[in-house]
Amino acid sequence: MKNNSSENLFALAKTLMPGGVSSPVRAIKPYPFYTAYASGSCLTTVDGTTLLDCCMAYGPLILGHAHPKIRESVTSQLENGWLYGTPSPLEPAFAKMITADHPGMDMVRFVSSGSEATMAAIRLARGFTKKSDIVKIEGGFHGAHDAVLVKAGSGATTTGVPDSAGVLADLVAHTRQVPYNDAEALETLLSTHQDVAALIIEPVLGNIGPVLPENNYLHDIREITKTHDVLLIFDEVITGYRLGIGGAQVKYSVRPDLTTLGKIIGGGLPIGAFGGRREIMEQVSPQGPVYQAGTFSGNPLSLTAGIATISWLHDHTSLYQNLDEKGRALEESIAEKAGGSYVRAGSMFKYFFRVSPPKNYREVKECDTGSFGRFWKKMLDAGIFLPPSQFETNFLSAAHSDDDITRLAQAYTQCR
Ligand code: PLP
Repeated sequence: MKNNSSENLFALAKTLMPGGVSSPVRAIKPYPFYTAYASGSCLTTVDGTTLLDCCMAYGPLILGHAHPKIRESVTSQLENGWLYGTPSPLEPAFAKMITADHPGMDMVRFVSSGSEATMAAIRLARGFTKKSDIVKIEGGFHGAHDAVLVKAGSGATTTGVPDSAGVLADLVAHTRQVPYNDAEALETLLSTHQDVAALIIEPVLGNIGPVLPENNYLHDIREITKTHDVLLIFDEVITGYRLGIGGAQVKYSVRPDLTTLGKIIGGGLPIGAFGGRREIMEQVSPQGPVYQAGTFSGNPLSLTAGIATISWLHDHTSLYQNLDEKGRALEESIAEKAGGSYVRAGSMFKYFFRVSPPKNYREVKECDTGSFGRFWKKMLDAGIFLPPSQFETNFLSAAHSDDDITRLAQAYTQCR
């Protein structure tokens, strides 16, 4: 791969931006490739190399890069302006679509990122229940704000240890953690701590995986949280419209009290949303006392792109079946030829350098990251861009063709 321009750009960026990047995961060593343009299932670098993309911007691009319908809708919205500072008709229109698709969302508030959505949902849970603590799942990622930037503790009930300089230990002492797929640990924690406002969970752990829920796990945690008067927040920033219309709550038939969305609902433009039961959402300002606000919230461009994306998904529901078949074809081919452990939820997948599929954070951490690093580099040399970490999910999109899948399967086998 030729990459002089990327190398030069990164050398300049490092002098101007911390680590040379706008988000840490992009700081690939020794330097990242810089993208000039993207279309369908491919990215083209500033040095002219075209790569098959299985990162898809970490999830939002379920229709692929630069989908013509989204481009058309955004271009036409540009004619009418792109930020009003007043309500626009797009907001109730999109709110109607989102609440209709999610059993756990009677009302919704639009924000500008998934991080903002989870931050507001946690504040709302505390405001509604008048309780102080939250529980998160070890290895779950909910954005880059203080309450959720907490490392896995050494035991199920350990209080949090800050995962970043600048996060107050006092603050994350209110963030407790339990392992994924362990309903008993949650039951034990909640029976000994009465101060918990909410459990926040990625129903399918997408930020270390995917790692899938076992048996009745999601149903069990729904019952346990209900029994202890603790709100259940499904963070569906990745799984929303990825696992199907209505995300994990529809796929697994579990109704959370609050839901956070992002990624796909913006069609590739910045967005987030949180919503839930009416009596809880009515606590959000200006209707209620829980403050939340944003200059760019509900901005017309993101909403237009979101409406176009979700409408397209409704008009092409066979896409989910189709993605599932592509994922399965890849799975069968890799399982047969490459060995190792391949985990998949629809169009989310990962090849773990571990003998069996992991079921929680501790098991994911046992993966051989050195082998993953070598494999990742070989894949890049073979023209395939995977998320640059053993702990990030790969994504397929509507733009991935059967030929792309065949190529991917061959590359997995050869580069393993
Ligand atoms: N929640 C989950 C499950 C995520 O995967 C992410 C980002 O990857 C976030 C929240 C934060 O979203 P954003 O990056 O839009 O702030």
